[in-house]
This record gives sequence, C-alpha cells and structure tokens, in this order.
Amino acid sequence: MTNTETRLPIYHKAIDWDAFFSEYPVPDVFERTIYRWPRDRLRAFQNKRFMRLMEIGWKNPFYRRHWSTAGIEPGDIRSIDDIAKLPAYTSDDVKKDQQEHPPFGDFHGEGKKLLNKMPMKVQTSGGTTGKPRATLYGVTDWEMNGLTQARVMYVQGVRPGDVVQIPATCSLANLGWCVYKACHDYLGVLPLTTGSGVVTSSRRQLETAFDWGTNVWCSFPEYLTQLAKVCREELGRDIRELDTKSIHSFLGPDTDNSLRRQLEELWGCPVYDEYGTNEMGGVAFECAHKQGLHVMEDCIYLEIEDVETGRPVPDGDSGNMVVTILHRELPPVIRYNVRDLTRIVSNEPCQCEGRFRRMDKFLGRSDDMVKLRGVNVYPMACLRAIKSDARTTGEWICVVERFERGGVIRDEMTVRIEVQRSVTNVDGLKEYLEKRLQEDLGVKAMVELVEEGSLAEVANLGREGKAKRLLDRRFQKQA
Ligand SMILES: [Zn+2]
Repeated sequence: MTNTETRLPIYHKAIDWDAFFSEYPVPDVFERTIYRWPRDRLRAFQNKRFMRLMEIGWKNPFYRRHWSTAGIEPGDIRSIDDIAKLPAYTSDDVKKDQQEHPPFGDFHGEGKKLLNKMPMKVQTSGGTTGKPRATLYGVTDWEMNGLTQARVMYVQGVRPGDVVQIPATCSLANLGWCVYKACHDYLGVLPLTTGSGVVTSSRRQLETAFDWGTNVWCSFPEYLTQLAKVCREELGRDIRELDTKSIHSFLGPDTDNSLRRQLEELWGCPVYDEYGTNEMGGVAFECAHKQGLHVMEDCIYLEIEDVETGRPVPDGDSGNMVVTILHRELPPVIRYNVRDLTRIVSNEPCQCEGRFRRMDKFLGRSDDMVKLRGVNVYPMACLRAIKSDARTTGEWICVVERFERGGVIRDEMTVRIEVQRSVTNVDGLKEYLEKRLQEDLGVKAMVELVEEGSLAEVANLGREGKAKRLLDRRFQKQA
C-alpha cells in the first residue's frame, strides 16, 4: 500500500493548501493586501463569506433550531445587511445544547463522528466556574487559529529569526497552541514552549530566556510582572538586560494605559494588546501605533449591541460584542453574543495603513453586572479607583451578598482589594477607596483590604482565562 492509498484522515492531505492560502493569505501577504483594502471591497468580501456561512448554518441542527424558533426561514437573509435579523446566542445556549446532546452538543453537527473523515482538536473555555465548555476545531478552523495569531504578531513586528517565549501550557486551553502554531508554521520564529510557571519555574523560564536569546514574549500581564520581580530577586539581574523587542499580551480593561506603562517601564519594550477567546482565537489586535485594537475583519464580523435591548449602538458607545466568524465551519459561529463589553473607537484608516476598524480594549463582562438598589453596577468600573492608590496591588473582587433585617431585604457589595505586601501604613486607605468607589459606581460599597496574593485563587489571577471580578453570593444556599 502506498501513501496515497491511506484511509486515515491525514491532516496535511485534508487541506488544499494553494486554495487555502489564496483565500487566507499568510501574514506578510495579508498585511500588504486585505488589511489595506478599501472598505467597500472588504464589505463585498465579508458578504461572500457570510452567505457561504449561512448555507453551513442551515445544515447545522443547533442553528436550524435557534433560527426557526425565532421565525427565520432560509431565504430571509439575502446579504450581510440582513445579519441582525438572526437571533444571537450566548454560551448558555451552547452549555444547554451540550447537556442535551453530550458531549459536544449538536452545535458541532456530527461532532466526533467526523473523525473518520478529518482530524480534529478540542479546546475548552477557561472554566473558572462549573465545567469547562468544549469547542471542536475542524481542519481549516485549527489552521486559522494559528494563522490569525501569526498575522497579529507580524503586524506587531515579529519577524523570522526572533525567539518567542510562550509561558502558557499546551493544555485544553488555547493560548499555548495558538501562539506555538503561529510562530512555528507561519513566522519563521523559534517558539519556546516553556509552559506556565507550574511546568517551568519562573527562575528557569528566565535562565532559558537569557541562554537561548528570547527576544519576544507572549504572556499575561500578571505573569510578566512576576518574571521581572523574580529576575531581580533570584537572578540579581534587571529584566531589561534581556533586551526584549516586544511583548504580546492581553491587557484587559486597562483604559488609562497604566498597566501598559508599568510593564513597558519594567521591561523596556513596547507591550501590545490583543483580544481573543477560546472559541474565536485572535479577534482584535493593536498595531505599533496602539490607537485601538484592529478587528480582524476579513475573518470576524463584529456588531456592538445594547446590553439590555439587544439593539445596535452608535459607534463610540459601549455594548456587548456580537461576533460572527466568517471562516469558522466546525462549529460555525454566527452571531455569538460574547457578553464582553467594548466599543468602536475608529472607522478611519490608521497610521499603519490598515483599514480594519478599531475597537476599544475589553471593558468587562456584561453578565458581571449587578443591580444594587436600582443602579447597574459593573465590577470592572472599580478599576480606576483601585489603581488610583499605589498601595493596592491593583487586584480586587466584588462580593455581593443579600441580608435580611426585620423583613427588609438589602443587597450589599463588598469590594475586597489587595494591598501590596511592602506597605506598612494603610491609614485612610479604606475610607479613601470607599469614597472614590461611591463616586465611580454611583452606589455605596464597603471596602475590605486583604493581603497581596490572597485573591489569586478566587479571582483567577495570573492564569489563562479572564480574571473574575464578581462573586454573587445572593442566591447560593447557605451550608
Ligand atoms: Zn493601525
């Protein structure tokens, strides 16, 4: 039997590579072409992909059910201009589907049965609460997971010959894989897949970086800060001696750029922000000008919707991100309400010559919102107050509890805030933060000062997945 007679689903035979690359150009070609296309050309391109996606969607039981329930029929959607007629779905819909059709839900069509025909990969959501949610990747989906990340890093200046250290474990979480694939398959850079600090200690990470010439890092802010500290304390060296070219990170809701400034000062190099999720891979990224995050618009169609009404909001207003992934087939992702908040900051061409629209940083989770005495409170809105006093570590979690006194129910929020270990004098800090938080949130919250590091577990800090900022204890049964 020769290789061509194999009955196995061989990955490299599962893709027609020439056709694939002509549709999804590699990073340098992409940067000179699609990235700079005029808006009308891009729109026509999005429309073509979207209409193909609709055909795939109608064949998928999850979407067929979801759309039919909303009274949509095939033929109602004639172009991408009609997209908002389709109902959005959330991760709750996917979770329910996976419970009813285990293990992956009919969201994934035939799911595991497709393994006879094509190779597949499964990744999961961060899963800070409950069971993690599984997402399958078909062949082109998996390939795009690496390719889109490679485009991001290329636009941010990564070039062949660079050595990229990736302190993220190649596990069921996506980041390590996605960056490894980007570096190895598409950029001509050497990926150092050292894994997280649990796999390779911070000291060893740094020794490796010095010995093997790491000049680019891809990691989360908390860990990058930790590395700088370990470098000073355990190696007796300044992290700047690494002469790092760039850092590719996920800055989250760093709206006043204080976190970025702190990291850039520590490391002595530019720090670029990126936004992505497990289901979507890279969605939006900063170019060297750092004036908002370019949405990867040939792959992603982004709508911003009002949190309460679900209607589109004007550019500049914040709302839920509703995402359609124009290339994703297994599973198709069509109007996924991520419940992450952001806003469009610019539709204008950028100094980098890219024409993709720009969005703000990730501004928090809309399902983190709590109503306290009639006021909508977003835990992420605590950020500025907490960062405004250098005695805090900048980490916090909001705890909401329900009290009943004499038949009157009252919800109270306590903001637990970490104080730096080196701080000995916390005089006036609690009072100051309570006053400042009341101004920013529009409602009174109590402050509880806690030790540095004590929120790491509960707030999911320094690990993959987003930090958790709300603990709602109102509806938990008392043990
Ligand atoms: Zn730009």
